[in-house]
Amino acid sequence: MNIHEYQAKQVLKGFGAPVAEGVPITSADQAEAAAKQLPGPLYVVKSQIHAGGRGKGKFKELPADAKGGVRLAFSIEDVIKNAQEMLGNTLVTAQTGDAGKQVNRLYIEDGADIARELYCSLLVDREFGRVSFVVSTEGGMDIEAVAHDTPEKIKSVVIDPAAGVTDADVAAINDALALTGEAAEDGKSLFPILYKAFVEKDMSMLEINPLIVMENGRLRVLDAKVSFDGNALFRHEDIKELRDETEEDAKEIEASKWDLAYVALDGNIGCMVNGAGLAMATMDIIKLYGKEPANFCDVGGGAGKEKVAAAFKIITADPKVEGILVNIFGGIMKCDVIAEGVVAAVQEVGLKVPLVVRLEGTNVELGKKILNESGLAITAADDLDDAAQKIVAAIG
Ligand code: GDP
Ligand code: MG
Repeated sequence: MNIHEYQAKQVLKGFGAPVAEGVPITSADQAEAAAKQLPGPLYVVKSQIHAGGRGKGKFKELPADAKGGVRLAFSIEDVIKNAQEMLGNTLVTAQTGDAGKQVNRLYIEDGADIARELYCSLLVDREFGRVSFVVSTEGGMDIEAVAHDTPEKIKSVVIDPAAGVTDADVAAINDALALTGEAAEDGKSLFPILYKAFVEKDMSMLEINPLIVMENGRLRVLDAKVSFDGNALFRHEDIKELRDETEEDAKEIEASKWDLAYVALDGNIGCMVNGAGLAMATMDIIKLYGKEPANFCDVGGGAGKEKVAAAFKIITADPKVEGILVNIFGGIMKCDVIAEGVVAAVQEVGLKVPLVVRLEGTNVELGKKILNESGLAITAADDLDDAAQKIVAAIG
């Protein structure tokens, strides 16, 4: 689960991290009162959407030379003017896709005088099975470009969970970020705070880009992006409340109600599968035959007919879907249940695109019989390869 920048900063502030004062607003009428609560004279007006790259983003409705989704304002009037221009419009960034995201909320923040922009993130390092700090002196800009062009400028510090962030770890991070003087002193408190927040709140990612050294030599968290481990949300009522469903794909919300793993992608073949491995294999083989998946919905094991029908409806509700591939290896999941669910869903919502079904495993004959006798226009496939070729051919 992702949250907004202003919420992430609130969480980090609760642990003692240095963040600027700020006020979230949802209408331009609130801009003046928000700005008046801040010291000024420099303010920042920040679009709150669940995507990064806002500063370099463009608003669809504004002229191409208009400023982006993060703007400096030099007076209260300037804050109001920018808020009026930004709210309600659609921001397109490198992370939103072409459709962009509507900006329904702004964060009005006290502006900082920046001396250096650094990069600092925490993530679960799969190689070590530990939480790692990933840091770079090259913050503020596109970290993917830094990783690609100058990977030596990105350093990792792996944390031993039994020891936590030690003095030696702090020294290593300070050194990697070339922090000295007061900024290095601030690092001594900040890095353990970030680690504590990450572990206690079951984060899966915490990215601060940029972490800044201000002109006064102190550190400040200037941007914050946090994702939480969905499997641990049950023990964080406070975090659950931060969920903003308007930022999420409506189909992913519907899928989570049914406990289905649904992922929206960019292509045009909808995929219903059981199991993560089969999902990956199905998508790979679609790509091998020259097309891209529009989504995949993993019904898992042991789903009932209703859940299968819900999955099928979620897949067909995506207007990008020009064809559907159902690829099931029945183990715990039975092929006849899949067939019944698919037939029930098609009877309810109709079938406007080609459907290829490959069933294998438990009760496969019964499953095939149900599909054959349904009278629906379903193309049966013998194996995964055959199925992928048939659906790719069907959508042309
Ligand atoms: P992002 O573009 O979505 O990553 O949004 P950020 O919060 O990282 O802001 C983008 C850029 O705006 C930063 O890298 C800074 O250069 C600039 N910026 C943001 N806040 C401030 C501020 O308080 N003062 C100054 N001078 N620049 C800021
Ligand atoms: Mg940023």
